[in-house]
Amino acid sequence: MERSTIVRVHEGLHARPATRFVKLAKSFESEIEIIRDGKAVSAKSPVKLMLLGVKENQEVSVRATGADAAEAVEALIGYLENPDSGLGEDELHAGAPAYAPPPAVQPDMQTEIGTFLRGVAASEGVAIGPAFAYFPADIQTEARTIAPGQRDAELQRLRAAILSVQNRMDATLAETSLAESDRGIIAALRDITADESVIGEAEATIRKGLDAVSAVMAAATQVAAEFAELDDPYLNARADDIRAVGRQISLALLGQDEAGLDALPEGAILIAEDIGAWDLARAPLKRIAGIVCGHGGATSHVAIIARSHGIPAVLGLGSQVIELKRAQHVAIDGSRGEVHLEPDEATRQRFDAAILAATAERKALSAYKDAVPSRPDGTVIEVAANIGSLEEIDAALEAGAMGVGLFRTELLFMRHMHLPSEDMQAETYAAAARAFAPHPVIVRTLDIGGDKPIAGIEFPQEENPFLGWRGIRMCLDRPDIFKTQLRALLRAAIHGNIKVMLPMISEIEEVRRTRALIAEAAAELRTEGREHAAFPLGVMIETPAAVLIAPTLAKEVDFFSIGTNDLTQYVMAADRLNPVVSSLNSVENPAVMAAIEMTAKAGVDAGIMVGMCGEAAGRPDLIPTFIRMGLTELSMSAASVQRAKKCIGEMKAT
Ligand code: PEP
Ligand code: MG
Repeated sequence: MERSTIVRVHEGLHARPATRFVKLAKSFESEIEIIRDGKAVSAKSPVKLMLLGVKENQEVSVRATGADAAEAVEALIGYLENPDSGLGEDELHAGAPAYAPPPAVQPDMQTEIGTFLRGVAASEGVAIGPAFAYFPADIQTEARTIAPGQRDAELQRLRAAILSVQNRMDATLAETSLAESDRGIIAALRDITADESVIGEAEATIRKGLDAVSAVMAAATQVAAEFAELDDPYLNARADDIRAVGRQISLALLGQDEAGLDALPEGAILIAEDIGAWDLARAPLKRIAGIVCGHGGATSHVAIIARSHGIPAVLGLGSQVIELKRAQHVAIDGSRGEVHLEPDEATRQRFDAAILAATAERKALSAYKDAVPSRPDGTVIEVAANIGSLEEIDAALEAGAMGVGLFRTELLFMRHMHLPSEDMQAETYAAAARAFAPHPVIVRTLDIGGDKPIAGIEFPQEENPFLGWRGIRMCLDRPDIFKTQLRALLRAAIHGNIKVMLPMISEIEEVRRTRALIAEAAAELRTEGREHAAFPLGVMIETPAAVLIAPTLAKEVDFFSIGTNDLTQYVMAADRLNPVVSSLNSVENPAVMAAIEMTAKAGVDAGIMVGMCGEAAGRPDLIPTFIRMGLTELSMSAASVQRAKKCIGEMKAT
């Protein structure tokens, strides 16, 4: 039984849709294959299905043999043609793998000057301490030939090892203290331990006479290499997952346990090629003074965890990290991305002094934690935090943030192998709302463009992604994605302190079309009988167009938040990522300050709140000027909150 069709799954058979397709296929007894361009793979293996790389609008065939072949073909073709029908929410999200792919190492970030290395500044702060090198050894085994009579026993050994790894993963998944993001990653690894592409391949090799460890490692290496070759960063990241699983099973076969991070001494700088979620979920973070990694970037999983625990981190050192393998002592500056190997006396003194100064400043500033700063006329200035994930809430609360002025939701979309579900988003926004109540939590709708890939959204190749299909532009063109987020926000808004803001606004129509979508989403929720509530809607002012129409915008929205990072690059026509034009990329430039002032005036005249959430909001040298312009909310990284409160408190009436 075989039928062809054109795939109508937006994201292609990638990540979550692949999981759904496989789940459906597994509910039939028949042997089922999916065929594209003459290549057939089992429809019951998510790994093989993802490797087939089926995209939207491609033609595929589904072939089944067995008692329920006709039903299987009909159901699977039905899914490919109409993916949104038939499966309930629970099924949609069950078993969906999650992964936070570390951004690629930027080769130009790696320069070496003697014992000084430079990487990505991923978590601010300085640290000096004994180096703790964490480079788990490669698994070394001599390939052995297994006699035909022993092969069944070898297969049994493999199955027992897989079971023990699965049991360990299940035990970790059952731990209530496990962060949701870590849970997603470990669940994805667990899925791979049951996938026939790796395990089936290893079993076939054992049947041919190779020993189990060599067979697993060979299968994992081969499948990982296939993922690594694909032209898709999300699927490339699966290669690491596959290798990690191969390693865990091999260690179980060898009766070895990974030398863990338990031996890490107090105050050590952890040095690693990469630290997986598996390790991070169990690492003694309180004992870690700093982190240095070959892999990873500012938005990687390691960076987020480091920032949320206030651990300085330098990531993305590439192969240079090997030079640190035998280091005794290391000093790192996570704000500058610097690593000093065996620091000399002068460097030590400099770092010791910086640490002392930072500790003294932290101590002095902690007096401002609960301060409620106000302008000389008594108006309260809300000093809020920028966050990108729930893991950052604790640090923000600890710092005394008066709510969240910018919840960047991109990370929620970037760290998963699939688009986050409405339920998952609603729960995330609600958790932030609960944590900061009664202070407001301003959630920014998805602000993503071709410069940052997301599983499930195909971006066009663009000459200038920063001037292209990003932020509100993409969202309005993809109401399926946008409405899911708006529905989640309406549901979370029942907590009463959620506000929503739109990024990259350049036309009033964008606000009006969003309002229409919000009304549509609210009507749907009402019909479905789901609890929801309205939220105040604001816009980011980060394009010159928005500044120029600010008086009109102010009549249609509830607040402004000035995004100085983008506003500066667009006003100055100077790419914020291009170091060659970095001197132009300055918020202090009179043109940018004029744009901020015009925005503030338009907002104040209309009687709406004007805030700021770009990096400039945390600068003590500029805060008094912004406040005099009329800004009443400043949102910044948690580390800057107390300094900003102090600065506002010291403002004199003028
Ligand atoms: C900004 O542009 O100032 C801003 C806060 O948004 P992002 O840095 O996420 O673009
Ligand atoms: Mg921006």
